[in-house]
Amino acid sequence: MSTVADLWALQTTDLALEAVKQRLIEMEKQRGESAELKAARAAAAEAEAELSRLRTTQRELDRQIKDLSDHIRAAEREMMSGRVRNPRELEGMEANVAALQRRRSVLEDESLVVMLEVERWQAEAESRQAQQASSEAAHSARQEAIKREAAQKIAELKILSARLTQQWETIAPQDRDLYKNLRSRKAGRAIALEQGGACQTCGLMLSTGAAQAVHNDSQRVFCSGCGRLLFAG
Ligand SMILES: [Zn+2]
Repeated sequence: MSTVADLWALQTTDLALEAVKQRLIEMEKQRGESAELKAARAAAAEAEAELSRLRTTQRELDRQIKDLSDHIRAAEREMMSGRVRNPRELEGMEANVAALQRRRSVLEDESLVVMLEVERWQAEAESRQAQQASSEAAHSARQEAIKREAAQKIAELKILSARLTQQWETIAPQDRDLYKNLRSRKAGRAIALEQGGACQTCGLMLSTGAAQAVHNDSQRVFCSGCGRLLFAG
């Protein structure tokens, strides 16, 4: 028959192995890009797109203003040339120049508004780019840390698996059944530690007789509170 100490050692390995597996599962979930990084990228791209749109609008307005200025100059030259003498025709030409100037003035106001927007979005784009860069750096550092820890956990997993196989070999068949049975019914813990006359898993104070019996290698004592096999700590 195996000793309770053997079973306790087996359980210790089993629990450590489970913790390592659990951690590996958690790390797998943390791989890949975070929502924060995706949001930072989207925000930076949005600012870039807005800036590009505003710059196109600005170029188009500048082109229209230049065209109008060319028109105005040509019309003014025509008026000054003296070729047209008819007062009504001259009046019409003046009115036309005035209309072109008004139109230009409206476009110049629009251009100013767009220019201010460009400045605003330029600052915004820079700040969002900086935010994205910092998110990318944090992401890389996180992935690097996960990779390192995963390598370490996989090494631990191999060691623990080998140890578990070795320990399992030393357990007598009937104790293997007892261990498996208790573990499946008792939330993965078949053996409970006894210390100072109390079960350390459920907290029950054992009777004096039971507490003494736990320390006797020839006896198997089960906690009357939680039903686990007790191991003298
Ligand atoms: Zn107990």
